[in-house]
Amino acid sequence: MMSRLDALRSFLRSKRIGIMLVGKPVNVRYFSGFTGDSTILLITHDRQILITDGRYDDQARLECPSFEIVKHETGLMRETAAQLKSIGIRLIGVEGNFLTVDALNALQKFLPDWIFKPLTLDGLRQIKDADEIERIRRACAIADRAFAEVLNYIRAGVREIEIAARLEYLMRQYGSERAAFETIVASGLNGSYPHARASTKVIANGEFVTMDFGAVFEGYHSDMTRTVMVGRATDEQRRIYEAVLNAQLIGLKEIRAGVSGRYVDKKAREALNAAGLEKNFTHGLGHGVGLEIHEEPRLSKFSACGELKPNMIVTDEPGVYIVGLGGVRIEDTVLVTSDGAKPLTHSPKILIELN
Ligand code: ZN
Ligand code: ZN
Repeated sequence: MMSRLDALRSFLRSKRIGIMLVGKPVNVRYFSGFTGDSTILLITHDRQILITDGRYDDQARLECPSFEIVKHETGLMRETAAQLKSIGIRLIGVEGNFLTVDALNALQKFLPDWIFKPLTLDGLRQIKDADEIERIRRACAIADRAFAEVLNYIRAGVREIEIAARLEYLMRQYGSERAAFETIVASGLNGSYPHARASTKVIANGEFVTMDFGAVFEGYHSDMTRTVMVGRATDEQRRIYEAVLNAQLIGLKEIRAGVSGRYVDKKAREALNAAGLEKNFTHGLGHGVGLEIHEEPRLSKFSACGELKPNMIVTDEPGVYIVGLGGVRIEDTVLVTSDGAKPLTHSPKILIELN
């Protein structure tokens, strides 16, 4: 935790901020190790304070030995304001993408002369340490295992939600804390919506089934998509599948430390363009994965994330969505290294035809 706090402090120094209020639970966890909620960290250049309530008092002492623990009895914002007043630094960094308007109004009421500067700390979590990589690797292994087994349940006549339920059941059985996000199972025409949900639609012969799902291991996520065929693929379905797979493999080939997320996205997009499918690829190529399912860096046309760096973990997930026909998406979670991308999800990607 200390090296993470060091990184936070140099970030604050670069912004000329003397104190930061951290409340977004994944950031509280990242900087302190605390796994509960309803808690605020106050980080100055020489102190770290954790403010929580009676439910979490003991847990905080156990999980965060290097923090001063303050138990509030009068309300989290009131106690936070009291602590800020006693510290006395009047320019305070707050998480602009998390702190609610109500919470900010409460702080401003208690501290009328203070200035609150919105900052985003999420970028500090982009480069993973060995423990984080290991946890994501475990989450990916759980998803791989569930995928291998769920293939036994996919056939014509089964509803999408049954497959989603089975995937989530299997992942939990193999050690996942919960589903990483709402599991997507999209068959046939439903596959033409990139963010289709698992519905009560019955899967039919001759349909693609796209499954996008992930596990969570000790707070860290995995993210994988596979598309399988029920019955035999037509020539056109096979052509689309191969085009997406080709773009996905080009993404894997191009991901490495030193290139930008924008560049990798462009390369995969060019591959789909060559197959006449670029306009059917309607989202970015990938995103960072960690304590959150979608985090920095972004692999997209609009990515402002700069160069990929060793030990970032990102997804590579091109997809093609054709109204009236369906869709195909293939996604791996991968580790960025200086000599290329190392996939952490390993499920097969050749077209599987189930019958
Ligand atoms: Zn996904
Ligand atoms: Zn994803």
